[in-house]
Amino acid sequence: MKKILALLLMLAMLVCCFASCGSDADDTKKLTMATNAAFPPYEFYEGDKIVGIDAEIAEAIAKKLGMELEIIDTEFGSIIGGVQSGKYDIGVAGMTVTEERKESVNFSDSYANGIQSVIVAENSEYTSFEDFYTGFDADGNPEGVKEGVKIGVQQDTTGHIYSADEPGNWGFGEANVISYKTGADAVQALVSGKVTAVIIDNEPAKSFVAANTGLKILEGEYTNEDYAICIAKENTELLEKINTALAELKADGTIDKIIAKYIPTK
Ligand code: GLN
Repeated sequence: MKKILALLLMLAMLVCCFASCGSDADDTKKLTMATNAAFPPYEFYEGDKIVGIDAEIAEAIAKKLGMELEIIDTEFGSIIGGVQSGKYDIGVAGMTVTEERKESVNFSDSYANGIQSVIVAENSEYTSFEDFYTGFDADGNPEGVKEGVKIGVQQDTTGHIYSADEPGNWGFGEANVISYKTGADAVQALVSGKVTAVIIDNEPAKSFVAANTGLKILEGEYTNEDYAICIAKENTELLEKINTALAELKADGTIDKIIAKYIPTK
């Protein structure tokens, strides 16, 4: 009788142990982050691991939230839709805050600043932004795009959106813009002479120029932008938690440290 009781007790303990083990695992909720991992130094592959500024900032946020970060690599243009539909919790992709995107998703406080740059071949006949245009009106805005100018961009990015605008707004007109799936593809098109220039965020531009011979970045800023994390409109609780985490990570120097690790200032 005693033996049976002891056995039952053991069994009960085992069941308890398993149950609590199980619930422990469930307690660590996943934080799914969508990105496009061809955007160094914000996100890129090191072996089969996605690393970079965004990956590390998201990791630090997840840690503060007691969540486990899962990074999903997808096309840049499908990140906002995926966040909206709840497929991903957050989008962290060197994503610029724009009024149009704000209609679809909420943005966290900004954690970095970005500039759109123009990459050309080292021996390019174009030496400034103005060079791409035929002339300027009385307000100093371009009147037309020179014959043969083709601008390569990464599809659905701000570089794409601004370039496809009318010359009067310092765009090049849709017909003169060729979009590629990744920034790296756009740069390859420049290397092989299919496009005249690539307009892309400054830090990836620097990485691409360093990784390919015969390219350079034109002086000046095409635009200046704020990067932030996007979150579904209805997920205001997560937005608040992320903003709190970001504020703490800014205050204790973590964000600066992560950025400095990938963008050394000389
Ligand atoms: N900052 C740009 C944008 O938001 C590009 C981002 C990216 O290509 N990952 O459109």
